[in-house]
Amino acid sequence: MAKFKIMEKTGVTVKLLESPHRKVNNTSRFEDFARHIEKFPGGEVLITSVENLFAWARSKSPWDLTFGLACCAIELMHTHGPVFDAERIGAILRATPRQADVMVVAGTVTIKMAPRLRRLYEQMADPKWVIALGSCAISGDHYRNVYSVVPGVDQIVPVDVYVPGCPPTPEGLINAFMQLAEIIEKEWKQRMGVKK
Ligand code: SF4
Repeated sequence: MAKFKIMEKTGVTVKLLESPHRKVNNTSRFEDFARHIEKFPGGEVLITSVENLFAWARSKSPWDLTFGLACCAIELMHTHGPVFDAERIGAILRATPRQADVMVVAGTVTIKMAPRLRRLYEQMADPKWVIALGSCAISGDHYRNVYSVVPGVDQIVPVDVYVPGCPPTPEGLINAFMQLAEIIEKEWKQRMGVKK
C-alpha cells in the first residue's frame, strides 16, 4: 500500500492500493497529475465523497418536467426561453418524468387533473422536488371556491418552494431554482451530519 501527500497546501494524505500482479508507481503518477493540474490558473486537486459529488451535481442541475396546466405555463416557457435562459443555472426541461428531478406545477390544478399530476410525480425518481408556480397552484387563487379546482397543489404532492404572483415572473422561478439548490445542499448536509 502506498501512502503519499497529494498537495502540500491541502495537507491531504491518500492511500492507493497497488495490484499484487502489477507493480505500479502510483505515487509518482498521482503527484505528476497533481503537478499538472496545479499549473492551470486556480487549478487544485479536490478530494470528495461520491455522495458529496452527487449532491453538488443535483443542486446545480434541477432538470424540470415539461408540464403546464394553465397560463402560468407561459411563464415557465419564458423562463426556459432565450431571454431568461434557465439552462445557464442548470435547469433543463425534460419531456419525461423518468429524467426529471423537479416538478414545476404551473397553473390551476383541477380535481380531474389531480390524479394524473400525482401519477407523474410518482413516476419521477427519488430524490425529487416540487415548485408551485403562481397563486393558482399555491392556493387555487381566483378559482379557490370553484367546485372543480384543488385549493392548493400541496394537497396532492409535497411542495418545496412556492413562487407567488398572478402571473408569477420568470425572475421568481429562477430564484426558486436557486432556493431549491440551497435546500438540496442543506438536506445533504443534514443527512451527512455536516454542521456548516
Ligand atoms: S396564477 Fe394567474 S397566470 Fe397563473 S394560472 Fe392562475 S390565473 Fe393563470
